[in-house]
Amino acid sequence: MKVVLQNLTKQFPGRGKKAEGVTAVSRFNFEIPDGKLVALLGPSGCGKSTTLNLISGLLEPTDGRIFFGEDDVTDLPPENRGVGLVFQNYALYPHLTVRQNIIFPLQNRKGADKLSRQEMNRRADEAAALVQIEGLMDRRPKELSGGQQQRVAIARALVKMPRVLLLDEPLSNLDARLRLQTREEIRRIQKQTGITTIFVTHDQEEAMSISDLIVVMKNGVVQQTGQPQEVYDHPVNEFVARFLGTPPINMFRGRVEQGRLYIGRDAVLKLAGVADQEVMVGIRPEGFLLREDGPLRCRLSRVEVMGRDISVVSSHEGAESAAIRSIIDAENRVDHQAETVRFALRPGKVHLFSRETEQALPFQLC
Ligand code: ADP
Ligand code: MG
Repeated sequence: MKVVLQNLTKQFPGRGKKAEGVTAVSRFNFEIPDGKLVALLGPSGCGKSTTLNLISGLLEPTDGRIFFGEDDVTDLPPENRGVGLVFQNYALYPHLTVRQNIIFPLQNRKGADKLSRQEMNRRADEAAALVQIEGLMDRRPKELSGGQQQRVAIARALVKMPRVLLLDEPLSNLDARLRLQTREEIRRIQKQTGITTIFVTHDQEEAMSISDLIVVMKNGVVQQTGQPQEVYDHPVNEFVARFLGTPPINMFRGRVEQGRLYIGRDAVLKLAGVADQEVMVGIRPEGFLLREDGPLRCRLSRVEVMGRDISVVSSHEGAESAAIRSIIDAENRVDHQAETVRFALRPGKVHLFSRETEQALPFQLC
């Protein structure tokens, strides 16, 4: 089931006399293709949950429409939309067993939708098998780990055979290892069922690792949409460039002058297509190549060996932060005692941004 958002907007009124309202989601236009997993990604407060709640029907939009396939669902109540919802806090009924929790959403069906006890159990078994908790059906939530509780919550969302699965930061309450494992599980379940899934997270690595598409949001406004790699490789503005990647992109104050890009006094690239101006230069950690005659001359702070890679920490007067982090192959020899370290740059890992608009400035190499 594809999901289409048209001009979707949500304003919350201010509280008190002079309080200003908040535009939590502003003119969101997007088509989520059938059967894909899409992540809504952005910092806390950027409008992710509001968007999800608009899609689920828990919130009413101020403006815009929502379609599931060709159906306009904007005015349908949540229970008639066919969505499965999973939240950060698993919200299981403590006095019910796992089986009873999973069956719960099926119990109040009326008329033609009414299911027999046998059919409800069959569906619960099927959902439990998908999330691999078949052995826990008679336990109560307090007898389960956090990861198991979240699986029950996912099973409860799946048992309704939803048209769309909505997950709001479902991994936030899990510890690091379980988070990693559960996100793989969600990906597997999503592929197996083929249910169109919208996954909300503030964790860029989580979003990048499991999604077909990501939507990066800031202050209620979509910044960029695309395949994770495409967005990482071609950020449209400084915000997106900074938000994606660990370690984060290194930012420098630079300038373009007659076809050369300067960082401080160092002429680091020859390029075309950008008028002379002051720019911000973003360089991904993997964009640095150790070269004795490299044009970017940095002061070496320390070298951290991480097994597969080496992390070189250095500084430069043009850098925005005190530490520049570059990741290079462990085959490289770095003189730990040296005062300076010189880099050439991988052009595909260098991004230029306008100082005025913070938008990306595309360039060609010469
Ligand atoms: P996220 O899930 O990305 O952290 P939210 O969608 O929860 O962000 O919130 C987006 C913005 O809308 C925030 O500024 C938040 O304070 C505001 N907001 C969310 N819900 C309400 C509400 N019920 N009333 C007023 N403001 C709200
Ligand atoms: Mg939220």
